[in-house]
Amino acid sequence: MIPSILVVEDEDALSTLLSYNLEKEGYKVSVAADGEDGLMQVDEAQPDLIVLDWMLPKVSGIEVCRRLRSRPETRNIPIIMLTARGEESDRIRGLDTGADDYVTKPFSMTELTARIRAVLRRIRPGLAEDRIRHGDIIIDRVAHRVKREGREIHLGPTEFRLLDYLMQHPGRVFSREQLLDAVWGSDVYVEARTVDVHIGRLRKALNTTEEFDPIRTVRSAGYAFDLETR
Ligand code: CA
Repeated sequence: MIPSILVVEDEDALSTLLSYNLEKEGYKVSVAADGEDGLMQVDEAQPDLIVLDWMLPKVSGIEVCRRLRSRPETRNIPIIMLTARGEESDRIRGLDTGADDYVTKPFSMTELTARIRAVLRRIRPGLAEDRIRHGDIIIDRVAHRVKREGREIHLGPTEFRLLDYLMQHPGRVFSREQLLDAVWGSDVYVEARTVDVHIGRLRKALNTTEEFDPIRTVRSAGYAFDLETR
């Protein structure tokens, strides 16, 4: 799974430099030249992270940030804001823009990519790592293998994606509809109770018991992956 980054920047030279270097780092990059285009691209395909310039034509970076944060479906997209040196950057940090991090221009690519990795690791741990471990469960996303207590667990492709998605967001409760969108894809028509069937298979494969069941059923809400005792 390659993390996708949307760069919203109106300076051609800078956006070319950013997309070249981020692609070299292994990210999938798309570029928008103004705030309006940026918002439209987010509607079409949600990126895993946005690098957002503050000063943009049509819709400013702050306004883009505010609009993304005001909608539940885009609220959690990590945003790194690019600001200019000096007063501007102090002012913007003082505003509650909702950005996850700020990088002041001019910056080095090393600095920006380090910030990107840090934000992804914090917010989407599953995207930054090839392997995720929670308790005694390890999911290796490159080799497509799952182990529990050192023993290999055999999962079907849907159960694998389901576990991968839940483990990427430990503790978060997802409705059946959200899981269908994320794991099956929003263009596929599947009944919500299909999710229950696959959760059942996943639990069986993981050999869960009453004492050990990392997949929590949240009554009338959905499912969450967590290892807290309950
Ligand atoms: Ca600009």
